[in-house]
Amino acid sequence: MTDDPTGPDDADEFASARERMADAVARQTDASDRVRRALAAVPRHEFVPPGRRTAAYEDRPLPIGDGQTISAPHMVAIMADLLDLEPGDEVLEIGTGCGYHAAVTAALVGDGNVYSVEYGADLAERARETLADLGYGGVSVRTGDGREGWPERAPFDAAYVTCAAPSFPDPVVEQVRTGGRLLAPIGSARQTLVFAYKREDGSLDREDHGAVRFVPLRG
Ligand code: SAH
Repeated sequence: MTDDPTGPDDADEFASARERMADAVARQTDASDRVRRALAAVPRHEFVPPGRRTAAYEDRPLPIGDGQTISAPHMVAIMADLLDLEPGDEVLEIGTGCGYHAAVTAALVGDGNVYSVEYGADLAERARETLADLGYGGVSVRTGDGREGWPERAPFDAAYVTCAAPSFPDPVVEQVRTGGRLLAPIGSARQTLVFAYKREDGSLDREDHGAVRFVPLRG
């Protein structure tokens, strides 16, 4: 055994816990095998605060500081599956948090294709470091109000929001290409996970995917 919490014994333990979590979540959500493999690949324990590592492969949200939480793995799987993320898709994420969800997205589309906006400067900084340390340095993270999207990098094939929003922000809808996909928890205290497909005339074809609970949008 080693005292180093990231030493080889723990790494093995984390790897088998991660495999089990990915299998269980994929079964429960009926997610694709690609999504299962992405969950099995991304070391969630590296994204949570050190004191939370032993809980990293339980399927539940965890505090990540600044009053925010990392989503439960099943929610990340459901969202990745609904967005049908393919290699090469250019994706906008609103709400980087600790960067875990961005890393799963990167595992599906390629890390150079992920653009993530985080309101909290400290969270953004930490996420950037964690992502780079783990080999997802191509993910672009910027501090700001995600409601403005990332106009310089538009158009996106898909955009998703990881905090509760009153509606799809107009700039974000504009920055998604025709035929592109959007996904967000829409509502205030309680939300509905809403998927939308952007039609040629710019309007949205919306589908509701059940009740969810996310932290509120800030700013
Ligand atoms: N995807 C994240 C989950 C983070 S929780 C992860 O894997 O950890 C939601 C995040 O949205 C929080 O970090 C919060 O600070 C951020 N957020 C809230 N309002 C925002 C806004 N207006 N613009 C960008 N990020 C925002």
